[in-house]
Amino acid sequence: MQQNLSNSAKTDMQLKICGMKYQDNIKQVAALKPDYLGFIFYEKSPRHFDGVMPQLPEGIKKTGVFVNENLNTVIETVNKFKLQAVQLHGEESAFYCNMLNTSKQLNEPVEVIKVFSVKDGFNFEVLKQYENVCDYFLFDTKGKLPGGNGYTFDWSLLNNYPSTKPYFLSGGIGLDQVDDIKKFKESKAAKYCYALDVNSKFEIAPGLKNIAILKEFQNKLSDKTMQENYNVDDKGYYGNFGGAYIPEMLYPNVEELRQNYLKVMAEPEFKKEFDKLLKDYVGRPSPLYFAKRLSEKYNTKIYLKREDLNHTGAHKINNTIGQILMAQRLGKKRIIAETGAGQHGVATATVCALMGLECIVYMGEIDIARQAPNVARMKMLGATVIPAKSGSRTLKDATNEAIRDWINNPVDTHYIIGSAIGPHPYPDMVTRFQSVISEEIKWQLKEHEGRENPDYVVACIGGGSNAAGTYYHFLHEPNVNIIAVEAAGLGVNSGESAATSVLGKEGIIHGCKTLLMQTNDGQITEPYSISAGLDYPGVGPMHAHLAKTGRAEFMSITDDEAMKSGLELCELEGIIPAIESSHALAIFKQKQFKPNDVVVMSLSGRGDKDLNNYIEYFKI
Ligand SMILES: *Cc1c(COP(=O)(O)O)cnc(C)c1O
Repeated sequence: MQQNLSNSAKTDMQLKICGMKYQDNIKQVAALKPDYLGFIFYEKSPRHFDGVMPQLPEGIKKTGVFVNENLNTVIETVNKFKLQAVQLHGEESAFYCNMLNTSKQLNEPVEVIKVFSVKDGFNFEVLKQYENVCDYFLFDTKGKLPGGNGYTFDWSLLNNYPSTKPYFLSGGIGLDQVDDIKKFKESKAAKYCYALDVNSKFEIAPGLKNIAILKEFQNKLSDKTMQENYNVDDKGYYGNFGGAYIPEMLYPNVEELRQNYLKVMAEPEFKKEFDKLLKDYVGRPSPLYFAKRLSEKYNTKIYLKREDLNHTGAHKINNTIGQILMAQRLGKKRIIAETGAGQHGVATATVCALMGLECIVYMGEIDIARQAPNVARMKMLGATVIPAKSGSRTLKDATNEAIRDWINNPVDTHYIIGSAIGPHPYPDMVTRFQSVISEEIKWQLKEHEGRENPDYVVACIGGGSNAAGTYYHFLHEPNVNIIAVEAAGLGVNSGESAATSVLGKEGIIHGCKTLLMQTNDGQITEPYSISAGLDYPGVGPMHAHLAKTGRAEFMSITDDEAMKSGLELCELEGIIPAIESSHALAIFKQKQFKPNDVVVMSLSGRGDKDLNNYIEYFKI
């Protein structure tokens, strides 16, 4: 008897493909790398194995299926074909199983799988005597012949499974059961389900397997599809969030972009130019810095991804470089953007100067007055800054003006959105441009730690672009924990906050369905945070989905906590962070990490722009 692999039951189920008969077909099926291949040594079966065993790849367990066969014949067959498992499909007794299990005539030990047929009910009492003499149970549908009948039994009977022995689930499993299998996996009955056993539903003729359908079955059940998909789907949604909720007059512009963005991004010339500018102009790769003193203080391993060292001082330039190249490919001559605090306006004005394109930045009149240095920067870079004089004269109104402009100039104008927000394809496009962050983290961490995946990735979230880029290549790595940090302002329940995942409800903002801070009658609530970059009433649709599915842990950090942690980084590491990034840094005071945990944090920007805020706050 072999070691029980009972823990496999909790991870993904193994696959056994049974009833192999024909040489070429066996080789093709083996190429799909199932865990077990079954050969039926029972003459009355139409799938009776003809006795020529091809060379199989390592790791596939050859399983002999027998029905009330003479024990010596079984043992001889095991030795002859070097079988790793035996499946007993008849009325073999516990004594028989034990004899096989302990036989000295076996050249190598075999796994013993005892089959039980289930029809309308099953008396689980019979399992008891077999508990110690076989490795696995297999539950099949009772039919005329043992196996290969093509009918499923009622799997909910297994909710009463009294044993902890891992078992194979068998009987009529086919492509049309994929949804049922997924549901079954969530059920109590699945706890000890070790493998799925398939046969007749994947056949062209008895013993001849249909490779394409087997492949499809494997794909549909693979880990990737069993989990949530955290990338955008082809309709522009992340789960329930995303989409393109736009006025009809904007449709041609957005549709043109949607039809082209992936194609353009895949062009080798485009990639080359994007990478070259990131390297020579932005200064990438940005370092992955092991923060030694900070790590000592919090007794864990903290790495900072230094987006603050990029040209213009934050991650935003990764996206504007990508989008200006996209605009050029689409033949656009004129660039518009909206900006709140001016950071995205500066990043856009920068790339427009670089490419010699006209740049118009819409900015709320109040923001223009508050953010004089950034307004000056944009002007020096050649941009026209147009004040938005309607409504509250802030970011929301600037966005409305920008959209109006785009509607009026559909042919020659590209609208550069500055975060992972907006109508599809913007959130995905921005995420892809920013994903260079996690792409670099992978190889940089490999250099530092010998492994690509950290235990945690952490980023602050305004609209969510630096976070989306930091998470991107880890979204489907189940061992990487994702932490999203939102601004709580004066406190989540103070009425002065921007903690959207806590306070937000489903709604539509800037052309996408997402979580949004709003009043009961759906009016957008004015957010508040000390940091301009996090002062946004919504969150990108990817993050709404990460919050709803629980894939990411969301934390909220107040102004005070962020400011103190910002200053702490200055003192411990000699780095003055943007106040946005200081929010991420503050999680170490809320959450305890293990000494060996590797925590990679996006340091999204530098603090130069926030100097006045720091001076006022700390009375420096
Ligand atoms: C704009 C900005 C942010 C917030 O934007 P995201 O799209 O959420 O990344 C964070 N940090 C800095 C430094 C910023 O300038």
